[in-house]
Amino acid sequence: MEIGKGQMKIFYTANHQLHSPEFEVFNGEQVPHSEIPSRVENILATLREEEYELTPVESVTNEQELLNILTTIHDPNYISWLQSTHPTEAIYPSVFNFLNQQLLHGHLSIQWGNFCTDMFTPLLPNTWTVALTTAQTMYAAGQEILNGQPNVTVIGRPPGHHAGRSRIGGYCYLNNAAIAAQLLSEKGTVAILDVDYHHGNGTQDIFYDRADVLTCSIHADPRRKFPYFAGLENETGVRAGKKSNKNFPLAAEITNEQYQPVLEEAIHWISSHKPNFLIISLGLDTHESDPIADFKLTTEYYQKMARTLQQLNLPTLVVLEGGYSTEAIGRNMVSFLKGFS
Ligand SMILES: [Zn+2]
Repeated sequence: MEIGKGQMKIFYTANHQLHSPEFEVFNGEQVPHSEIPSRVENILATLREEEYELTPVESVTNEQELLNILTTIHDPNYISWLQSTHPTEAIYPSVFNFLNQQLLHGHLSIQWGNFCTDMFTPLLPNTWTVALTTAQTMYAAGQEILNGQPNVTVIGRPPGHHAGRSRIGGYCYLNNAAIAAQLLSEKGTVAILDVDYHHGNGTQDIFYDRADVLTCSIHADPRRKFPYFAGLENETGVRAGKKSNKNFPLAAEITNEQYQPVLEEAIHWISSHKPNFLIISLGLDTHESDPIADFKLTTEYYQKMARTLQQLNLPTLVVLEGGYSTEAIGRNMVSFLKGFS
């Protein structure tokens, strides 16, 4: 299936700059935050230079439908707390609740520790507003796919694939891929392929017991990289979702030549389940220049990656996850999109 530029629909969130975390605490040290507005701004500028048509999503127009989806994929207590909590400054958790019962009391830093699992993911005054707009973008993208559009891409932030059912982290708050997957799953089987450098632990968590949404992730081995506690080969799903999850943990410094056969194996696994829709969680932190990762994929390779994904011949929704080289991220996205044209 060859898709021309004109057949490709690209949505973006217009208000993403309102969510701009200043710092994260990594291994006890305060460091500048990596998930910053210039990531998306660099992509949008590069896409405009290349004369791609971009569709902004300015506001939330399907709030009730969105809330229905969000309370299906996430714990309703988490969604209602996030929706009704309006911090006036950045909130980092100071204590983490590792038990199954939630106790929402005290300082917001204590309350945030019920849901947030790390010190990389602060709750900011506009986090809910921006995350909900990105959710709206995913909803619009999913509707485009249902209307017959073969390829829809969403350039938004914050990312989503580390947001699980009731526990979130890794710069993610609402699981964007899962929002579209939930919408599409009403019409057929969905496969989510996560090619971010990091394991898509949130996406895996949400669909771990479901057969109607397959989840597959190619990522750095969690025994050495975030999210540290999920992403091994033996995590294959439970109950109805048994054998519906597939993980490919990889060693450091993976090259194009080493990545390609793994991608083909992932595609073969997805294809054997005969899904109707494909969602790509596209992290561009697999690039050789990424400051927080250690794979060695080149800008040119993303084009080959997209061409390989087209072998599945499915309506495809691409959503931006990570990617922290604010110099290279735009070129890498264009390279990927060229693989669809
Ligand atoms: Zn990542």
